[in-house]
Amino acid sequence: MSQPALEVSAAFSAIAERAATVLMHTYAPQPVAMRSGKGCILTDVDGQEYLDLAGGIAVNVLGHGHPAVVGTLVEQAARAIHLSNLYFSEPQLDAAEKLVATAFPSRVYFCNSGAEAIETAIKIARKWGKLHRNGASTIICARGAFHGRTMGALAATANRHYREPFEPLPRGFIHVAYDDLGAVESAIDDSTVAVLMEPIEGQSGVVPMNDETLRGLRRLCDERNLLLILDEIQSGMGRTGKWWAHQHAGIVPDVMAVAKGLGGGLPIGAVLAGPRADIFTLSDHGSTFGGGPLVTAVAAAVIDAILREGLVENAARVGERLRHGLLQLAEGGAPIAEVRGRGLMLGVVLTQPVAQQLVLAALRRGLLINATGASALRLIPPLILSDAQADEAVERLAAAFLLVAGGAASGAGAPEGKKP
Ligand SMILES: *Cc1c(COP(=O)(O)O)cnc(C)c1O
Repeated sequence: MSQPALEVSAAFSAIAERAATVLMHTYAPQPVAMRSGKGCILTDVDGQEYLDLAGGIAVNVLGHGHPAVVGTLVEQAARAIHLSNLYFSEPQLDAAEKLVATAFPSRVYFCNSGAEAIETAIKIARKWGKLHRNGASTIICARGAFHGRTMGALAATANRHYREPFEPLPRGFIHVAYDDLGAVESAIDDSTVAVLMEPIEGQSGVVPMNDETLRGLRRLCDERNLLLILDEIQSGMGRTGKWWAHQHAGIVPDVMAVAKGLGGGLPIGAVLAGPRADIFTLSDHGSTFGGGPLVTAVAAAVIDAILREGLVENAARVGERLRHGLLQLAEGGAPIAEVRGRGLMLGVVLTQPVAQQLVLAALRRGLLINATGASALRLIPPLILSDAQADEAVERLAAAFLLVAGGAASGAGAPEGKKP
C-alpha cells in the first residue's frame, strides 16, 4: 500500500537537511516542521495550520500558549529560574500540595521526566524490600509495558526492540500478561517486592486494564505484602475523565509516577509515595534540576487551570463525543475494528495495517494524530479540546481514511488539493 505523498516546501527541506547533518537519528519525524501553537492548533513553517490530537504526546494538556502557563513562566522566570534543593522554595511546595490534593495522602519527590520518575519508584521498591521483605527485589511488570528509556525504566519496559541493544539491563524485573490477575498471582514468590503497571498501557496502543483487575492487584499487594506502583505518566492529569486513571477503580496505589502533562509542556516528573512506601531518608535520592522553581510554579498553575476550567470533566465529555464520532466512522465503513480507552486517551484499532499512511494522510488534511503500531492510532489531545474541534477531527480523519483508500486503489498518492 502506498503512502500518500506529502508535498514538502523549500523551508521544510532546508530544515530536514540541517537535522540530518546535526541530530542523531533516534527519531523519524513526520514531514513537517512546526513553528508555533495556539490552543489546539499548531502552525508549521509555511503557515499551514493543524488540529492537534497528539498533544505533544499527552504533554500539552492546556494546549499551546495557555495564559496560565505563559503568564506563570514569565513571572516566575523574573523571580528565580533555578535555586537548587539546598534551599526551600515556595513553588515546589505549592506544586506538591496541589498534586497530593488531586491524588491520595502521600509525599512528593520531584524529578525531570517520566523515566526518572520510574527510576525513583524502582529505588523506593528496592529499599522497601530491604526494610520490609527480607531483601526481596523483583518487580512484576506487564507485557506491552512502556516505562521509559533509561536503564532501570528500560528493564521494566517489555518491548524487545527497545531493550536488546542495551543489555545487560538491571536484573529483577519480570513480565507477565497484562490485565491478568492470575498471571501476577502465579508470578509472586519470596523474591517479589512490587507490582509496577500502567492502568492504561499507552505506547502499546491504549490498552486499558479492567477496573476489576486493578482492584484485584490492590488486594493481592495487601495480602502478600507488596507495593503497588502505578505508572500514570500518560494516563494521569485528568486525561481519562478522572485526575488519575486508578480512581475509576476506586483504589489507591502505594507509589505513583507522574510526568508528561504535569508541566503543561515543561519537563517535570514526580513520584507520590503513600505512608507505606514513604521510606526515603536523607541522601537516598536527589536531582540537581528536580523540583526547580520555574517548572514547579508552572505545574501548580497547570493544576489550578485544570480545576478552574473543569478540564477533567471536559476530557470525559469531549472524549465520549470523540469516541462516538469514531464509532460512527466505523459504522460508515472506515476500517476501524475497535475504539478503546477512556476520556481523551483513545486508541483506534484498525482492521488493516495502515496506521502510518493514515498519520500522513491526516497531516495532509490538517490533523495531527499518532500511530502506536502498524494498525493502531492513538488520540491524546489537549484536555481543552472543544466539542466542535472533536467533530472537526472526526471529519478530517474521515477524509484521511478516504485518501488512504484512494491511494491504495490507484497505487499512488492522491494529488494534493484533490478533495476525496
Ligand atoms: C512517556 C512515558 C514514560 C517515559 O517518560 P519520559 O518523560 O519520556 O522519560 C513512562 N511511562 C509512560 C506510561 C509513558 O507514557
